[in-house]
Amino acid sequence: MTTLLYTHPICIEHDPGRGHPECPDRLRAVMQGFEDDDFKALDRHEAPVADLKEIEQVHEPYYIERIFENMPKEGRVYLDPDTGISPASGEASRRAAGAVCDAVDLVIKGKGKNAFCAVRPPGHHAESSRAMGFCLFNSVAVGALHGRARHGLDRVAVVDFDVHHGNGTQHMFEHDEGLFYASSHQWPAYPGTGLASETGEFNNIRNLQMAPGEGTAAFREGYREKILPALRAFDPDLLLISAGFDAHDRDPLAQISLQTEDYAWVTGELLAVAGECCDGKVVSLLEGGYNLQALTESVQTHVRVLMAD
Ligand SMILES: [Zn+2]
Repeated sequence: MTTLLYTHPICIEHDPGRGHPECPDRLRAVMQGFEDDDFKALDRHEAPVADLKEIEQVHEPYYIERIFENMPKEGRVYLDPDTGISPASGEASRRAAGAVCDAVDLVIKGKGKNAFCAVRPPGHHAESSRAMGFCLFNSVAVGALHGRARHGLDRVAVVDFDVHHGNGTQHMFEHDEGLFYASSHQWPAYPGTGLASETGEFNNIRNLQMAPGEGTAAFREGYREKILPALRAFDPDLLLISAGFDAHDRDPLAQISLQTEDYAWVTGELLAVAGECCDGKVVSLLEGGYNLQALTESVQTHVRVLMAD
């Protein structure tokens, strides 16, 4: 069994606007990175379109309708000051969520040992009825709920190492004892949620706040002492990773100083817990990461560790 890779060309066409950091070149750079010989063994899949019923498990139907009604035929529409959509954005966001659902299906059925979804737009800021922070649909949450509905999983965990707090995912999870969400992120920073004191109705949320300028030491200590033990105690049947790479030292949107090797480390640690709890069943998806070279290197590093598991 090998690692599955999901993507689709329409995810490159989603265009939030000239000069926008969440640009099509991000995914071009990521996919270029997978042309190296190291990645020949990946089992490559086209990201399918998510059924709207799957998306309705975490988003209000009126919100989903409004997104598609607002989809421009040409040019761009802004859903919030940061979140522009172009004609390709509807299909791209349905395929981003669809990739995660299909990856969950194959990993649960044992047809792949784990998976990486190279998709955009990202999703972790999307709330049940609000687009924000470059995100339309919360793909990781759609995948988690799909895992429960389709496969009868009791406990699904999401770990999010994007430098921004996944407010949308936390809000969708915090009142549900079968779901766990842990995030490491810069504080203070966008979107202004994710205090360590936010622990969820069922003690099922963990937030690791990192101060601007902190890097490897604080990140690893936070995972070792806080996130990994809580994840192990939750004992998930499936682990999803919101893999944003904007905590990298070279990233222009935040001030955390992770090195590329830190992504190998955290991926290895998460796989070790998944190995103990759920036979290594892990599905990871791309969230942020805005320095193209650092993004490519970090994704390569992350996926090499997934492949070596
Ligand atoms: Zn981010």
